[in-house]
Amino acid sequence: MAEMTPMMKQYLEVKNNYKDCLVLFRLGDFYETFLDDAKLVSNELQIVLTSRNGVPMAGVPYHSINGYLKKLVDAGHKVAICEQTEDPALAKGLVKREVTRVVTPGTIVEDELLPEAENNYIIAIGKSGEFFIIVLADVSTGEVIISEAEDLISLKDFIVASQPSQVLLRESLKDLKKEIAGVTSSMVELIEDWHFALSSGINYVKEFYSIASIDHLELDDKQVEVLGALFKYLETINFSPLKHLSLPRILKKTDSMQLDASTVENLNLFRLERKGSLFEILDETTTGMGKRRLRQWLLSPLTDRHKIDERLDVVHALYSDRHLLDELREYFHSVYDIERITSRLSTDRITPRDLQSLRTSLTVLPYIKELISNETAFDRLRERLELFPSELELLRRSIVDEPSSSIGDGNVIRKGFDAQLDSLRDLLDNSVEKIRAIETSEKKSTGIPSLKVKFNKVFGYFLEVPKSQSGKVPESYTRKQTLVNSERYITPELKEFEDKILSANEKIQSLEKALFLCVCSQLMNSLQRLKDAAIVLSEIDALQSLSLVARKYNYCRPRFSVDGSARISNSRHPIVERFVPDFTPNDISMDSSENFFIVTGPNMSGKSTFIRQVALLSIMAQMGSFIPAKDAMLPIYDRVFTRIGARDELASGKSTFLVEMMETATILSKATEDSLVILDEVGRGTSTFDGISIAWAVSEFIYEAIGCHTIFATHFTELTELSSMYPGIKNKTARIVETEKGIIFLHKVINGVANSSHGIEVAKLAGVPETVLSRAKEILRVISKQSALDKAVRVLTAEDLREIRQSKKGKMNRNQISLF
Ligand code: ADP
Repeated sequence: MAEMTPMMKQYLEVKNNYKDCLVLFRLGDFYETFLDDAKLVSNELQIVLTSRNGVPMAGVPYHSINGYLKKLVDAGHKVAICEQTEDPALAKGLVKREVTRVVTPGTIVEDELLPEAENNYIIAIGKSGEFFIIVLADVSTGEVIISEAEDLISLKDFIVASQPSQVLLRESLKDLKKEIAGVTSSMVELIEDWHFALSSGINYVKEFYSIASIDHLELDDKQVEVLGALFKYLETINFSPLKHLSLPRILKKTDSMQLDASTVENLNLFRLERKGSLFEILDETTTGMGKRRLRQWLLSPLTDRHKIDERLDVVHALYSDRHLLDELREYFHSVYDIERITSRLSTDRITPRDLQSLRTSLTVLPYIKELISNETAFDRLRERLELFPSELELLRRSIVDEPSSSIGDGNVIRKGFDAQLDSLRDLLDNSVEKIRAIETSEKKSTGIPSLKVKFNKVFGYFLEVPKSQSGKVPESYTRKQTLVNSERYITPELKEFEDKILSANEKIQSLEKALFLCVCSQLMNSLQRLKDAAIVLSEIDALQSLSLVARKYNYCRPRFSVDGSARISNSRHPIVERFVPDFTPNDISMDSSENFFIVTGPNMSGKSTFIRQVALLSIMAQMGSFIPAKDAMLPIYDRVFTRIGARDELASGKSTFLVEMMETATILSKATEDSLVILDEVGRGTSTFDGISIAWAVSEFIYEAIGCHTIFATHFTELTELSSMYPGIKNKTARIVETEKGIIFLHKVINGVANSSHGIEVAKLAGVPETVLSRAKEILRVISKQSALDKAVRVLTAEDLREIRQSKKGKMNRNQISLF
């Protein structure tokens, strides 16, 4: 490398302080990267790697930085942005440069870099005794949540369910890094233990919330430590405390139904590959904040009957009044993502267009409030919905109808807002006339009729005279340039005029910026109220979405039973019915005397659809949605567990069967009598006899020690014998009829057991030779006789039962607190 330039020295100093970041170094109109960073960046962004004085470099234009930033951050890099912090024109020697911000996946606030429908969470994890303390924040919306997990499984479930973009893990927990990285594609960063000190934690919490004491937050020391560590991190990368974060919400285990990662996946709540998801069906929201709210509701259905009914009342009101729903939706088309706009306001990343969107949203607020004022179901929402007349007035007065996207090109502040700005603009507006006046008077005084006043970037304003006339030019003209046919001159008068115009332009830019900031700082006084309004609006948006969907697909309002029974008539699977034209509805009836169903039937008979349907319907009902059925009475479940299908986890080195058993073990230890358990083919991943035995024992354990509503779909017809031994266990089967042409699936779930030879029927349908089929039948007869489980297996003794129930109690520790 040649001798190091002063700029390169400056760069290396910065890089040295930000070793774990890619440093984007502002050089004029470019952000440049150097050395190893340059090689990496040119590779990630597919941009040219150049070299100067032997130093590799790669740069991107400053105005398109966002797109590049997104790619780098998505690829898992932390990016430090090093700006020029003084005007290069005024700098003596090297321009000063400083890192002004570090961009990480979990701390982005720019709208164009974030998916609208999803929160962008950063999670900090610490430990208190056996428990993990989790703090979850979305800097783009200001939400802060504190939760905890009783063990690693629950912690991983929490991470999968919240899908954070970034995880901060206390260094002393570094052994878990691999486990955590295994369940999330997000960046997992270790944070040194001293960041979790209580005293600094208290200070950070006070500073971020601008409060003198943290007592009223009612946090315990460990929670303060983790919250403080997260705030410290946010301050280090944003270089100022974020003031827009809401006070932490502490989640209690009883607040919501907890859905673990495999349930979210098994039930297809969100989009996986190309299959349809429940969220897509339920999402008719019109705003980004409404989408995020709906998503949160789907991930954490409520367990409080009163709160569920509050939501259902609103959905019902809109469902019954088409006109009201249509009008509300119409207004909501003018509501923007105020939640994110207010966050950008407080992080100084707000744009003039954001203020325009805020103004439009605030304009329709009174109409929305008025519209919902006659419906008692909306009472609570309406009370919480404030109006913003003075903020609106300020925005109307200050910002032009259609401002430019960024501040600086003179089209943001409205005429009449500031006298000085107006007079500067008048000067510019009159400049064309002024030029014509100069031109006319010069033509006259020189007697050159073809003289013209022109402008270019190099010379500014000048007088152009044809060469043939140059003799008539007076002495006061200074020649600037000679062209083939003309000469160009300047005069003192023209220069003075030009200075005025140029400085007016500059003044307008800086004045507009100052006025814009002044408007923003006035709005900052209403920040918390605006954030509260955003929350109410997001809830109304989510509720109107649920009403529209209920109407569109003919859903019914669920009711909730007091005795824990479930009675649903004509229920449908919300996703499958969208793809199957003649969906067959099914009835479900469970109570304390019949709480365990064993569903048998051949492949494709509709078993999986049926059992998932039951789980989906209770999740929908508890999130406050209507459900696809004719009539429904449901219990309130504390959790829904699913163990479905053989998922391939070869990548993590665990066999399918091991995963299956781990999930089963979780259910056995965490389900309570108020849970719903859905099992599909448990025991399938091992040999038949092994499988049947495990499935059998698992069923007995759930039935005797837990006693919750359970639906078990299985190929093992042997399990149907359980019904003759335990009164609450019932057999169901998906009905089929056999015709000469083969089997017809009716998809109707009825009492009874599937005929075990259907497998052979299917084989026949598929054209397997007759000799093979008859041999199979013969073997089936022998095996059936040999297994004869009903006679061979003893019923559990009183002693067994005591042991089973005891073992369950031993495991019944505090349930994990759930998300949202
Ligand atoms: P199984 O679990 O018994 O193998 P599935 O539940 O996967 O069967 O159902 C197989 C197919 O049958 C589904 O993909 C769907 O197309 C159809 N199906 C299932 N249930 C119904 C129903 N109630 N009405 C109409 N079609 C159904």
